[in-house]
Amino acid sequence: MNRQSIPLLSPAIGTHRELVSFHFGPTNSGQKIYIQSSLHADETPAMLTTVLLKRRLLELEKQGALNAEIVLVPVANPVGLGQYVLGQFLGRFDLGSGKNFNRHFLQFSKLVPRAKDALGSDATENRRIVRELIAAELAEHKPLTEFESLQLAMLKLSFDADVVIDLHCSLEAAMHLYTSEAAWPEFEPLSRYLGAEASLLATNSGGESFDETHSLLWWTLQQAMPASKPVPTGTIAVTVECRGQRDVSYEVAQRDADGIVDYLAWRNVIRLDVRPLPPLLAPATPLAGSEQFYAPVSGILIHRAKIGETICVGQALFDIVDPLTDETTTITSNTEGVLYMRRAIRFVTAGAPLGRVTGTRPFRTGVLLGA
Ligand SMILES: [Zn+2]
Repeated sequence: MNRQSIPLLSPAIGTHRELVSFHFGPTNSGQKIYIQSSLHADETPAMLTTVLLKRRLLELEKQGALNAEIVLVPVANPVGLGQYVLGQFLGRFDLGSGKNFNRHFLQFSKLVPRAKDALGSDATENRRIVRELIAAELAEHKPLTEFESLQLAMLKLSFDADVVIDLHCSLEAAMHLYTSEAAWPEFEPLSRYLGAEASLLATNSGGESFDETHSLLWWTLQQAMPASKPVPTGTIAVTVECRGQRDVSYEVAQRDADGIVDYLAWRNVIRLDVRPLPPLLAPATPLAGSEQFYAPVSGILIHRAKIGETICVGQALFDIVDPLTDETTTITSNTEGVLYMRRAIRFVTAGAPLGRVTGTRPFRTGVLLGA
């Protein structure tokens, strides 16, 4: 293992942060895996998982069991970790700009017109050419802010990975993941090994998120190029939500780290006996089919359904009680699916998002991710 550090742009005189990465396995294997955690800073269930994963990778490396390079970034957002304000972490948004740390990533798909001209008839060679174009773009890019330099540092570590795993957590949530339709067959085993209760698919959720800057480029190129210029999939990417923010325990994090190791063994990245695939707990569903619930009024929020519960159409999910009029407003589900995440607060303002239930029928359009 070797530890590397990328210095971030200093936002103010006298302050410096860095993005630290740990590199395992051979760098010349032709295969690379990139795993990071806590892009929204205080996502500690994911962070603890990478701590335990790092210990395991160290052992496996000593045993000579790694077939590929594995890059691990346990603290993907040191900027957000510095935003401890009035007793609370505010890790989702950059306080300086108001930007979500997992939006506004430089979109590799803007390279498509240039790539179109450069590609030839050899698929493997085409992958190399596209990666060269990305590397040149990243080398030229000049970040203006610490936020931009953090995003650029992550992309420099990950752009040439074959597999990108971005570990987050939600507020109160079941284990669930997001990936593209095209990559689903490759990540279905990960969903099984992690025991995901929901797997949500979208090709382009419109959020300019970290995972999609990787996957969209290759998908867009594949759609745009004629058969005479074949484009393989350079990178597949997945976002994993390691349950809710308070689900921090050795037992759960160990199970998740083991699930990732099992997946890497399945991919033959790690030489270990491949664990038989556990059952898929829930079929993948379109992200556009998930129902997002909002508070129609303000009041005390009472949850009527459990996280991970299978919900029927018409089932009561939330009550909002007005403490002055004593009136109760009940919010019911319009879809049948799994309640995979909900807010952690218990008093809501009008219009506040409350939670989400999966659905098999796509009905939402436009940007599919929340703020
Ligand atoms: Zn997150």
